[in-house]
Amino acid sequence: MIGKSRLLVVDDEADMLQGLRKSLTREGYSVDIAKDGMEAVEKIEVSSYDVVISDLKLPRLDGIGLLERARDIRPQAVFIIITGYGSIESAVKALKLGAFDYITKPFSTQKISEVTAKAIQEKKAWSATATLPEEAIDVIEGYCMPLSLYYHPEHSWGRVEEDGTVRVGADDVFQKRAGEIIHIDFPFEGEEVARGKVCVRVTNSERKIHKLVAPVSGRVVDVNSALVSDHSLVKHDPYGTGWMLRIAPQNLKSDLAVLLFGRPLVEWWMKHEASDEKENKYLMSGALDPNFKNEIAAQPGGESIKACFACGSCSASCPIAEIDERYNPRRIIRMALLGMKEEVLTSDFVWLCASCYSCQERCPQGVKITDLMVALKNCAAKSGYVHPGIAAQAKPICRDGRIYAIDDFDNKKREKLGLPPVQSRAENVEKIFQITGADKVIKGGQ
Ligand code: SF4
Ligand code: SF4
Repeated sequence: MIGKSRLLVVDDEADMLQGLRKSLTREGYSVDIAKDGMEAVEKIEVSSYDVVISDLKLPRLDGIGLLERARDIRPQAVFIIITGYGSIESAVKALKLGAFDYITKPFSTQKISEVTAKAIQEKKAWSATATLPEEAIDVIEGYCMPLSLYYHPEHSWGRVEEDGTVRVGADDVFQKRAGEIIHIDFPFEGEEVARGKVCVRVTNSERKIHKLVAPVSGRVVDVNSALVSDHSLVKHDPYGTGWMLRIAPQNLKSDLAVLLFGRPLVEWWMKHEASDEKENKYLMSGALDPNFKNEIAAQPGGESIKACFACGSCSASCPIAEIDERYNPRRIIRMALLGMKEEVLTSDFVWLCASCYSCQERCPQGVKITDLMVALKNCAAKSGYVHPGIAAQAKPICRDGRIYAIDDFDNKKREKLGLPPVQSRAENVEKIFQITGADKVIKGGQ
């Protein structure tokens, strides 16, 4: 989870609603409220909540009905049921439907605070073990699609803002296909746009026009004037500062219902886009290890891996990436975050890092990329994979205590300088290699 955990509290008693909002906000949560079940469904449809705390008895749609609807819309949200009409039957039904906990009124603020904290832990555990990462996913190698946005299949995205408008932009695929942008034609403010119809025209350096369709219908209320002077924002930050326009939607609910969101987005990509790209570029989610990122984060140097937001600054500044296209730190980190454990650990490319620290200096997220590469090498070594080049270097170190053998010529020079001869054996080094198990790892790499 990134930033504050988001809660939705649902209750038809205004005092209870405000009291819970106040106490949970004080705990550091971002708290939204709804006074009945249908209002809650509408909020869950457009916002991603970590925990939903709902009364059982609600107007329009009761807590059990809300839980069932929420399961379909946001299966990852953790649900806590509260009620003044507690009964064994309703408690069992809520728990069977997947509610995390069930508490009866009256309860203390300490009780709700404890249960909420546990629910957040549950949510974190869910995210860590889910087959697909929740916040963002590279649907195919080299492409990044945040799962929190709504996508139109023609490669535009929409994000519902707090004021009810929809921010719109081009996805990673659109910007990659468009290439170097030299001009952007925006609609006028106040112009009506329709879902699936062209709203922005982008001209690239080859004078080809790429058309962006609107993901929702409505009136244009704003365009991103920053793009007029800096087209590269679309390339460097397509889901942030590279947004294109804001729309006041006309039929938000029905528009969102037909857009791609979350897991269906990934499934759609696998089915429809796979044929456009070369074989083997697609990830099969069953082959991913969602715990891999946690394994790396537990390694010294790997702690910051989850902060990467795939900006590519590291790859742009990497001298190795410039001369060897197989080496791309941004891509390696995305592969690791996705859980492509085998591909990363058995690859030759993680061993190419020259530890120059150019990338680490530039990362806006403070990811310790150079240290991370060392952590990945350590993970690879623990898994029994060592690059043959490293194994070849380790062999003389184990045998002689140094990377190249000392011969008579070297010792004669030392003698002339008044230095003692160097011992050719390094028993202590050999012992260290045996005790740490490095000798076996190195043999595996030979
Ligand atoms: S510079 Fe930092 S945030 Fe950007 S891709 Fe590299 S590691 Fe990730
Ligand atoms: S430390 Fe490694 S990944 Fe970073 S710029 Fe240098 S060679 Fe590239």
